[in-house]
Amino acid sequence: MLTYYGLFALQHRGQESAGIVAGGGDGKPFRTHKGMGLVPQVFQPGDLEKLQGNRAIGHVRYSTTGSSNLKNAQPFLVDTARGQLAIAHNGNLVNAASLRSELEERGSIFQTTVDSEIVLHLLAQPPGDGGGLASLRRLEGAFSIVLMGENEIIGFRDPHGFRPLCLGKLDGGYVLASESCAFDLIHAEFVRELEPGEVLIIDENGLRSEWPFRRERKALCVFEYVYFARPDSNIDGRNVSKARVEMGRELARLHPVEADLVVPVPDSGIFAALGFSEESGIPYYPAFVRNHYIGRTFIQPTQMIRDFNVRVKLNLIRSAVEGKRIVVVDDSIVRGTTARSRVVNLRENGATEVHMRISCPPHKNACYYGIDFPDPQKLLANQCTAAEICKYLGADSIGYLSAEGMVRATGRPQNEFCLACFNGDYPVPYDDKFDKLIMEQRQGKARLLEEPTNRLF
Ligand code: SF4
Repeated sequence: MLTYYGLFALQHRGQESAGIVAGGGDGKPFRTHKGMGLVPQVFQPGDLEKLQGNRAIGHVRYSTTGSSNLKNAQPFLVDTARGQLAIAHNGNLVNAASLRSELEERGSIFQTTVDSEIVLHLLAQPPGDGGGLASLRRLEGAFSIVLMGENEIIGFRDPHGFRPLCLGKLDGGYVLASESCAFDLIHAEFVRELEPGEVLIIDENGLRSEWPFRRERKALCVFEYVYFARPDSNIDGRNVSKARVEMGRELARLHPVEADLVVPVPDSGIFAALGFSEESGIPYYPAFVRNHYIGRTFIQPTQMIRDFNVRVKLNLIRSAVEGKRIVVVDDSIVRGTTARSRVVNLRENGATEVHMRISCPPHKNACYYGIDFPDPQKLLANQCTAAEICKYLGADSIGYLSAEGMVRATGRPQNEFCLACFNGDYPVPYDDKFDKLIMEQRQGKARLLEEPTNRLF
């Protein structure tokens, strides 16, 4: 039940499928329930009663490439020589193609096309043959992972710490979650975040850490603060909503404008708009009203679904914007579809001026670490200058936050972050083979390396 609630709290990170593996304490095989859709759609009355045991892991997922289907829903559960093992993976391996080829040559037979399965095959190798925890050194890319075995639960982060993973305490036991907001829902006490490169083993003896990875520079995904994480979560000791308010303040200082109203694009633009309003003195008004029963457009898998969602997702309060000069604050512009429709909507409802302000720098590069920034050629800022984007959107002005301002708002030093989608500086190199493969997947051609995955609990 706790895992189920945890998945509710983390639903924002993945809405295509959900699942839980539970077991332990009764000598019976682990039980699994997975399905496509949101957590309340996947788990019907009676499903949770079947998930008995003294431990569980769960996962909600969105695919950044390829198809979205039940076969690839997590957690995965496999039988190994050392007993059953379940895995939930958040992130994306960049060397999955070569690892998989190597493992297949050594006799591994893969059940899925998802990169997470590679972790299971690596761990299942005999210790003398490169298996066990030491095998994790072979992984490259972004991975925050939870494993459930017959005697323990293991959580670990890649040595760069791209994706968050934190530890909580509840009723004398321990819980792991991608974001601290999951602990609030179940009244667990936040203990700490796992360090990049840390392998945390939780078993009947309590906690112990191992450090099998090479030491690397920290590279937390800065987009967690901008958009991805929930505002009520804390990452690296900094509350996400506060970081967003500060981004809005930075934005107001960097791109001031004379206007009558600051309007957020909900939900992730809300706190940056508040900060913009506070700093500029321009009144804040949430004139866009969100339909809460639709998923996040950014992470929906097809353009057709995205277009539909853009139209039905937000409605505008005409009387609030009519005859006014509006500053619209949003967290990012990816393809431009959503931003353009917002400007059109505002003008149709009588706004006299529309000034677009974005609380991060222009997205110019693809992400290879588990966030769905598409083929760079589809990224508006990769193809156009800011002036051209402004014209395309039909706005009166546009202003992006600088990388320095964005990082300053987090309170952390720049060298602790990945900013690759903004500046092209990739902390983990990707080879052309991977690049070609992932682009082919996005076009539906390739079979390997499907779906970088997100979120675990
Ligand atoms: S490339 Fe961008 S979205 Fe991807 S991990 Fe780095 S900062 Fe985050």
